[in-house]
Amino acid sequence: MATHFDLIAIGGGSGGLSVVQRAASYGAQTALVEYDRLGGTCVNRGCVPKKVMWYGASVAQTIADAPGYGFEVEQKHFNWSALVNKREQYIHNINNWYNGYLGDAGVTAINGHARFINAKTIEVNNTRYTADKFVIATGGRPTVPAVPGHELGITSDGFFELNEQPKRVAVIGAGYIAVELSGMLNALGSDVVQIIRKNHFLRNFDHMISESLTESMKASGITIEANTQVKALQKTGDTITIITEEGSLTGFDTVIWAIGRTPQTDDLGLETTGVDIDESGYIPVGSYQETNIPNIYAIGDIIGKAELTPVAIAAGRRLADRLFDGQTERKLDYEDIPSVVFSHPPIGTVGPSETEARQAYGQAVKVYESRFTPMYNAFTEHSPETRMKLIVNGPDEHIIGCHIIGLNADEILQGFAVAIRMGATKRDFDDTVAIHPSSAEELVTMR
Ligand code: FAD
Ligand code: NDP
Repeated sequence: MATHFDLIAIGGGSGGLSVVQRAASYGAQTALVEYDRLGGTCVNRGCVPKKVMWYGASVAQTIADAPGYGFEVEQKHFNWSALVNKREQYIHNINNWYNGYLGDAGVTAINGHARFINAKTIEVNNTRYTADKFVIATGGRPTVPAVPGHELGITSDGFFELNEQPKRVAVIGAGYIAVELSGMLNALGSDVVQIIRKNHFLRNFDHMISESLTESMKASGITIEANTQVKALQKTGDTITIITEEGSLTGFDTVIWAIGRTPQTDDLGLETTGVDIDESGYIPVGSYQETNIPNIYAIGDIIGKAELTPVAIAAGRRLADRLFDGQTERKLDYEDIPSVVFSHPPIGTVGPSETEARQAYGQAVKVYESRFTPMYNAFTEHSPETRMKLIVNGPDEHIIGCHIIGLNADEILQGFAVAIRMGATKRDFDDTVAIHPSSAEELVTMR
């Protein structure tokens, strides 16, 4: 096997796979190092298994809604392990597809843990490899706090290893992963307590989203322990007790830490290269993904910006376009990145929150809002409302932000994100003929 390459990517997740595939398509000699299954977090422990469980939860919700549409149904049993087995088979097929695809693309796959021994060389399983260029795409892992008994809890990684459905589960955290896991578990029938340090979920989102989600999750049966600081976990017989500064919460069979992620720069030999890392362990990069050391680049979660799969993929592809196809100005623009939270109900958001927009543009900002019960929920017992907000700026009313929470928000946002990126104004939205009856039409009929 060759030991010198034009490019070596470390990490076989969304970012690493994308950069080597694109570079190889231009004829570059590339290698990819991964110690685990190909596909990284998204495929194995993130987006993909999460979305399968989210669909399962949506089926449960539809069954619960069915009587409203005249169906007499009885939900007898949900077989958690049957769904998990199918999910894992689906992921296994994706892993295999990647193995074949890399070979077909002419990428050398190296299985093992990569560590730099200097800025031009890495070592994997006692073999040294050199490259003209390195891309670090080692992603992150769930953060676990150093409180006593922390090991009694699992993380999102452990959630995807559960073969039995938790009966009474505590989810600690207030971000993307916490709200997604709580919503799914609750819809699938677990008794869910969510423990948050402050008052609301998703506090860095627009306040309309943050408040509305907190209300909807409460209304759907999740117990929310707000303003609660976890001090320790303890085993009490067969169950786990959570000790908080305010008292204790008892009787959990499962506790999930969902308090953020830690970048995987700690066992990479970076100290031998001179590559800077910040105080949180992320690798700072310039606008072309370049680190402070020539010919070493970083993409994806490891840079600590917009930790999303399509961002890692886009950064990887653009970097390869620039390095191996002479597209000298090609780079990822980190502005206006749309994002969806697969909560119940789902959230779609692009652009600044109202607070951020007012801080940046002051009086020039105007806000349009809509709030309604979707037609689907006019017939169901459970009827979460939908809320939408458009944030416009300046006399031409350029749309700079769009925030949606409600049924189908996950599928509505993508097209609107294109329009906003193209510089659409409120007038453009008004001039677009609505699609009726739909929720999305509200975005082109707001006054
Ligand atoms: P990763 O995908 O984490 O890949 C890094 C790879 O590097 C890993 O496979 C790791 O094993 C390997 N590695 C690390 N160190 C070394 C080393 N020294 N040697 C060799 N290999 C190494 N994003 C979305 O856009 N939509 C979603 O719905 C979504 N849902 C998510 C749900 C969960 C529960 C989680 C945890 C994340 C989710 N994300 C989602 C985020 C998404 O998974 C990440 O943004 C994405 O995977 C980042 O890709 P990456 O290539 O930077 O890192
Ligand atoms: P997030 O950064 O989204 O949220 C973590 C939250 O946990 C913080 O915002 C904080 O909220 C809370 N927190 C932090 N430390 C503690 C602590 N010690 N005790 C209690 N609460 C704490 O991280 P996630 O791990 O949820 O997700 C990581 C990233 O993965 C996301 O930012 C996103 O980019 C990506 N992701 C994307 C998804 C998607 O696209 N649908 C789905 C899942 C993940 P507060 O300050 O309010 O307490």
